[in-house]
Amino acid sequence: MARRKLVVGNWKMHGVAADIADIQAIAAAAAQYPAVESGLCLPATLIERAVRAVPGFPIGAEDVHFADKGAYTGCVSAAMLRDAGATMTIVGHSERREAQHEKDEDVRAKAEAALAAGLLTILCVGESLLVREGGDAISTVEKQLDASVPRDSGPARLAIAYEPIWAIGTGRTPTIDDIAEMHAALRQRLQAAYGDAGQNIRILYGGSVKPGNASEIFSVMDVDGALVGGASLKAADFVPIIEAAALKA
Ligand code: PEP
Repeated sequence: MARRKLVVGNWKMHGVAADIADIQAIAAAAAQYPAVESGLCLPATLIERAVRAVPGFPIGAEDVHFADKGAYTGCVSAAMLRDAGATMTIVGHSERREAQHEKDEDVRAKAEAALAAGLLTILCVGESLLVREGGDAISTVEKQLDASVPRDSGPARLAIAYEPIWAIGTGRTPTIDDIAEMHAALRQRLQAAYGDAGQNIRILYGGSVKPGNASEIFSVMDVDGALVGGASLKAADFVPIIEAAALKA
């Protein structure tokens, strides 16, 4: 099953007007690799400006609220993201699951809302170091996935990002065998949830992906791309990762 590789940057709480030039540099370079679907998920304040600055290059959000509108101070709905020109969003990033106490059912509601609005929805799962060292990584992440994936919306615009929490921003990564084992397990769970459509859902790896390790990670079966944090901030780091994905496409 050929799935188009997807490489998305997560800028987290980085990015002001002065950084639009970096977004333009990334978009211009990414256009050289049409076999790869690439894009940037940005702070809400930057989305509309980025969309105007790089027409046609996918720009997304880092989170979305489950409701369309209402009394939710500080939150942004999927309809608002679409209105700003966003075409995708992340949901369930571990930094939100931890710091904002988001539960699997919250993540599922957000994913339902994002998919219903037609956004490419990157749903994150991943285990803590304690769980990994305790030998329970696979079963824990499988349970997280089962409880987080949408049930009411079709999975056509859904992607999963496996992001071990202990690998995010640390420079540490799981072994290639561990990544392969986890992605195979997630593929099975997606097939159990969606039948044949589960084969079309891209499973990204995230956690300290860099130009130096991207090629090896993209060689792993069932790794369909990457969610990239720190290395997505500058074209000099991010573009070689897109290029590495293109070489495996
Ligand atoms: C992330 O925040 O999703 C991430 C993977 O970060 P980093 O690439 O910096 O580890």
